[in-house]
Amino acid sequence: MIIVMKAGAAKQDRDEVLKRIRECGYQPHVIHGATRDVIGAVGDDRGKLVLQSIESMHGVESVVPILQPYKLASKEVKREPSVIKISEAVSIGGRELIVMAGPCSVESEKQIIESAEAVKAAGAQMLRGGAFKPRTSPYSFQGLEEEGLKLLAKARQLTGLPFVTEVVNPETAELVAEYADILQIGARNSQNFALLKKVGQLKRPVLLKRGMSMTIQEFLMSAEYIMSEGNQAVILCERGIRTFETATRNTLDLSAIPVLKEKTHLPVIADPSHGTGHYHYVAPMAYAAVAAGADGLIIEVHPDPEHASSDGPQSLKPAKFNLLMARLQLFAEAAERTL
Ligand code: PEP
Ligand code: MN
Repeated sequence: MIIVMKAGAAKQDRDEVLKRIRECGYQPHVIHGATRDVIGAVGDDRGKLVLQSIESMHGVESVVPILQPYKLASKEVKREPSVIKISEAVSIGGRELIVMAGPCSVESEKQIIESAEAVKAAGAQMLRGGAFKPRTSPYSFQGLEEEGLKLLAKARQLTGLPFVTEVVNPETAELVAEYADILQIGARNSQNFALLKKVGQLKRPVLLKRGMSMTIQEFLMSAEYIMSEGNQAVILCERGIRTFETATRNTLDLSAIPVLKEKTHLPVIADPSHGTGHYHYVAPMAYAAVAAGADGLIIEVHPDPEHASSDGPQSLKPAKFNLLMARLQLFAEAAERTL
C-alpha cells in the first residue's frame, strides 16, 4: 500500500503512521518528495486491508494499493527517476550518460592500470573489471579474488575512476563492498535470493544484471529483493537474453529499456558486450541503447583482447573504444543527454 501524506504534514503525524504500519506487520519505506512524503508499506499482500484504516489518521491524504507485485521498485511508489550517487563526480540516472568500461577480468596490475588509463582518456567515467568471476566452466579462470580488488583500488587511486566489480556469493560480499563503488550481481546470480538479500543489507549501490531467461517482471522482483532489505540504490542492466539466435552470444533486448523506464524509477543501463559477444557489434548496439533511453553503458575494453583470460572476442581495443565514445557523443545529444 502507498500512504500519501498531506503536503506539509507534521513529522509527528508521519511517525505515528510509521508506528501503525509496523503494528500491522508491514515494513514502512519513506520516500521524500518535493512537497509531501509518501510511505510505501510493504509486506504480505494478504493483510493489506488492515492498512486501509490509516486513511483516517492525522496528516494522511490517502491510502492506495500498489498494483504491481514489485513495490519499492515501482513507479507507483516513486514517480521521479532515481538518481544514484556513486562518487562526488558520478551519478547514474540523471541527464549525464555514464559509461563504465574495462576488462572482463582483472588479470594483472599492468593490464588493469593500462585499461583504466585508456578508458579514462576516451571519456569513460567508471572502470569495470571482475575479481571474482562466475564462469560456466569450473576449469576456466575464476579471477584474482582479493588481489584483483586491490589492483582495482590501485587503478582508482591512479585515475580517480570509481569501479564496479562482481559479487558472486554472500560470503565474500562484505569483502567486495570494502573496495568497490558498485557491487555487480551477474546474470547467473540474478535470482540468487540469498545473495540479493545480502547486498540489500550493504551500503553500496548495486548493478543488477538481467538473468538470461528472466522476464522483465522477474527482473524487477529481483530488484525488489535488494530494496526490501533497505538498499534503494539499484541500477538495472539489460545484458541480453537467451533466444534461438546463435549469430550473437545473447539477444540484447533493447525493448526492455523503454518498458523498464515505464515501470520503474530505477536507472537502466545496457551491456552491448555480453549482449552481442562480438566486438564489432558492440558500438552499434551501444548507440541503439542510448537511443532507446539507457542511462548508461557497461562495455568491455582490453588492451590485448587476443590474450584475455575471459571474453576476449567481445572486448574492444582502446582505439576502437575511443572511436565509439567519440560517435556516442552524437547519439547522446540526439537523446538530450550529456556525456
Ligand atoms: C561480466 O560482466 O563480465 C559478466 C560475467 O556479465 P554477465 O553476468 O552479464 O554474464
Ligand atoms: Mn565478461
